[in-house]
Amino acid sequence: MILELTPNTHPILHSKVKTCSVNLDRHFVAKTLVENMHHYDGIGLAANQIGMDIRAFAMVRDLENNEVIVCFNPKIVKKYSEVVSCKEGCLSFPDEIINVDRPDKIVVKYEDEDKKEHKIKLSGMAARVFLHEFDHLEGIVFMSRSPNSLRVGGKKMH
Ligand SMILES: [Zn+2]
Repeated sequence: MILELTPNTHPILHSKVKTCSVNLDRHFVAKTLVENMHHYDGIGLAANQIGMDIRAFAMVRDLENNEVIVCFNPKIVKKYSEVVSCKEGCLSFPDEIINVDRPDKIVVKYEDEDKKEHKIKLSGMAARVFLHEFDHLEGIVFMSRSPNSLRVGGKKMH
């Protein structure tokens, strides 16, 4: 089911999303997130970007192998100190590309659609996408991460 992208002025994109309820149909949510992420040609998509008030996102973990994961109730366990500045885009702000500073390596936890918990280390692009989507669930949009950064054009990413 393809859903409309939430307008970026909508409060759902600017408030923290609550932990998933026990009865949530995670398989449906996972399928919907992945389907919409591909439809909008993104490499990550948080549920609140398509109007779903659910603490979950889909992301491409490995671009080369096209490996996609869906993370429910994600947590950041550790951020390594090396910070990298890189251009980011966002499906919710299709006209903005800005430089954002983020740790290059992180350890994270999340649950999958079968409620199985995973603990993994991510680096490079995957770490950046995870942190960007995690921010969405915290109600933080990428522009507030980098208020003074230079806007450098328009290409959609997450
Ligand atoms: Zn985004």
